[in-house]
Amino acid sequence: MEFYDTHAHFGADDDVDAIIARATAAGVTRVLAVGGDDALNTNALRTPGGVALGFDRDQAGRAADLLPTLPALLDAHAARVAAIGEIGLDAHYRPDTLKAQCELLAAQLALADARRLPVVIHTREADDATLGVLDEVPWHHGDRLRGIIHSYTGAPRFAGQLLDRGFMVSFSGIATFKSAEEVRASARYVPDDRILVETDSPYLAPVPFRGRSCEPAFVVHTARRLAEERQTPLEIFAALTTANALEMLGGRKPSRSAPDEGIACPPPGLLV
Ligand SMILES: [Zn+2]
Repeated sequence: MEFYDTHAHFGADDDVDAIIARATAAGVTRVLAVGGDDALNTNALRTPGGVALGFDRDQAGRAADLLPTLPALLDAHAARVAAIGEIGLDAHYRPDTLKAQCELLAAQLALADARRLPVVIHTREADDATLGVLDEVPWHHGDRLRGIIHSYTGAPRFAGQLLDRGFMVSFSGIATFKSAEEVRASARYVPDDRILVETDSPYLAPVPFRGRSCEPAFVVHTARRLAEERQTPLEIFAALTTANALEMLGGRKPSRSAPDEGIACPPPGLLV
């Protein structure tokens, strides 16, 4: 059984080799290391597998300085870049900057489109604003958008609107929290060919590890709960979520011995 953690962050002090070794031992054979600001981008690049690089909503105030640097960053690590992210909108913590967040998101969607890269999107309490940006930015990925809505916490209705726009929907350890009944309803709603699992580590450790620092190995516990909710054997749920992630992100395995080799991400144009 193999799992693909589609969203993990790394810190400057993390023992990456040990984290990846524990993940591999748990069957988590692929991890997407996700950026979002200068430090997160740098730390994602310290890992041996695929990466998402970009500037998240908390960087909106620096957009004019940061956006011009992103194309060169993507070029410098093109062989490893599986997506642009994490990017997105959060009206829970920073409703006051929502307009600037929308502009930063829109600029990176346009760049992702030009590069034929998928996006990894955070959206919290910003359903209408997110749909507004997605519908305003012209995408040219054939007739299908490409991207992941990560750590989904919304209702099934919003999930449906995102599925209509071609996204995959990824669930984190929140789906195991006692109070997260609506998140589990959404997890039951998303079809087999669009669902993903992630940790969002070091945050959101799933039950039974709540309160601890999360790491990719723990994604197995989230997958087990989601499989139960969907009345699917864990083996089948692991296989279908891994296949979905491979389709969206490509298949780099975090092999420490050959950090710049491994299976390259297939050209996105072949996937749509
Ligand atoms: Zn994240």
